[in-house]
Amino acid sequence: MNKNQIDIFSGVSARLQMTDAIELTKQSLQAHGAEHDHWGIAWSGGKDSSATLTLIVWMIESGMIQAPKKLSVFYADTRMELPPLSIAAYQIIDELKERDIDVQIVMAPMDKRFMVYMLGRGVPPPNNNTLRWCTRQIKIDPMQDSLAEAIADYDGSILMITGVRQGESAIRDQRITMSCGKDGAECGQGWYQEVLPHAKGIRGRVATLAPLLHWRVCHIWEWLKHWAPQADFGDWSTAAIADAYGGDEAEELSARTGCVGCPLAQEDKALDTVIAMKRWAYLAPLKRLRGIYRALREPHNRLRKPGTDRNKNGSLETNPQRMGPLTMEARQWALKEILSIQDEVNQEALFQNRPAISLINEREEVRIRDLIGSNTWPNKWRGDEPRADTAMDLIMAEGIVQPLLIA
Ligand code: SF4
Repeated sequence: MNKNQIDIFSGVSARLQMTDAIELTKQSLQAHGAEHDHWGIAWSGGKDSSATLTLIVWMIESGMIQAPKKLSVFYADTRMELPPLSIAAYQIIDELKERDIDVQIVMAPMDKRFMVYMLGRGVPPPNNNTLRWCTRQIKIDPMQDSLAEAIADYDGSILMITGVRQGESAIRDQRITMSCGKDGAECGQGWYQEVLPHAKGIRGRVATLAPLLHWRVCHIWEWLKHWAPQADFGDWSTAAIADAYGGDEAEELSARTGCVGCPLAQEDKALDTVIAMKRWAYLAPLKRLRGIYRALREPHNRLRKPGTDRNKNGSLETNPQRMGPLTMEARQWALKEILSIQDEVNQEALFQNRPAISLINEREEVRIRDLIGSNTWPNKWRGDEPRADTAMDLIMAEGIVQPLLIA
């Protein structure tokens, strides 16, 4: 914590700031909540949505706001969460169930999960430019499907509450919409806020509300670490969430939340922070994931279109020699590497009596091997294309051929 934060955020001043922030949240829920009988909370297990969830449940329980007729919590389990966060999330799920709150675990279907899609179907790891398949596939679509199911037998609309915050900098505010990949943001929350209400099948039936929009990151930490764990505020297991971002140093960091080893983040700040703590140091082998994802994007691990394929009009495709899916050898290699990281972590976990992790569970491994065994390729690929590091004539979209020059 820097000096400034200590001044602002200690004693009476801190309490006043929190009380003001909570009061605004209350007003926002009172103003918009009453119009909807059914509220849903889109929860990723990260700091912002966890603060939103626990605060709202406490406000209802303490009589600060009126409960909706129905409250559903949608926990987005991507199977890729940072272990301390997913462990804390499942503790909070138990605490919600003890209160008879409806909790839906939202997970992508087997073939769409990150590891299965990548290693079984052969789609390269996502990147910021051409191939950003992950957020929609492992977060947005499953959330949309769960919502559609939740409102299917129901006439009214649902108020979907998200953990989007406006944050401290005006620059970042403009990036809220698609906040995934930005430091300090929670991957998916911006999408839930902007994309979900317009999604097919639920359009017009979902309104969104971000009641912590005005909260600053220091309010979030204060709530998660010092308020929510107290019996008076709900006795929640939220301290461990702040822990995942750096424990007592958490205020300093505005780490983003997302998948462990996210290939889109510039650095794995959250994981670095976690493994710097002695009790989580056994997770250090997870650092190797990003290197594996990087290697999988290299030409020697992928196929390339030879440049001769025609589209349905008979003309050459726009990018006739584009790089494509992972070779079978690359998938086998990465599967072995990722399973060995998992084994290494779990052996140490067993030794130290710490929680085990699951990067690829048994069913996912079987499915990946099945897909590889049945020679599965992404759409428009056959598998007989050359490896992307094969030297070949350069073919432009106009059909101009620049022959390979051999010295
Ligand atoms: S955290 Fe990274 S890998 Fe995970 S869904 Fe978001 S962008 Fe994709």
